[in-house]
Amino acid sequence: MKPLVAIVGRPNVGKSTLFNRLVGKRLALVEDMPGVTRDRHYADAQWEGRTFTFIDTGGFVPGEEDTLLQQVREQAQLAVEECDVTIFVVDAREGLTPADEAVAKYLRKSGKPVVVAANKLDNTSGTMQALAAEFYKFGLGEVQAMSAEHGLGVSGLFDEVVAKL
Ligand code: GDP
Ligand code: MG
Repeated sequence: MKPLVAIVGRPNVGKSTLFNRLVGKRLALVEDMPGVTRDRHYADAQWEGRTFTFIDTGGFVPGEEDTLLQQVREQAQLAVEECDVTIFVVDAREGLTPADEAVAKYLRKSGKPVVVAANKLDNTSGTMQALAAEFYKFGLGEVQAMSAEHGLGVSGLFDEVVAKL
């Protein structure tokens, strides 16, 4: 069985950029407009001889009553329910937001293994990498500093995902 890995997080944190990076293709639409990925996107990727299926989801928007956002949230929840591991993407330069905390709360309840991807850390300087530490507050375990746009920390992220299987 191919492990199923769901990529979730609030809008605009870089989920689709990470998905494209992991699967090595530009399949998902990357947009500055939040909430563009309305449906789930599936694609396979190999890592150390093993095949994984990744699911890109729309922005997980807790507590929004708008119908589109509600649909987006439902898609993200379905993805989490069916996955083996969840990658929870946050914008580490913006820092921890209430929307991130709401997603974290849902993920803690889901009981699924989670790897936190502290994204948008575009260089390897100590000051930049230190921004990832804040997200240990979630109490969800490992936090991987990374840059989906620059491909930094992606192999470390794969390793964390494998460790959760
Ligand atoms: P999604 O809504 O979570 O799927 O986010 P997207 O992948 O569409 O990205 C939202 C915005 O963040 C886009 O403008 C991306 O170019 C930008 N972005 C994504 N990853 C990175 C990164 O590692 N570093 C920086 N600086 N920007 C990023
Ligand atoms: Mg997206």
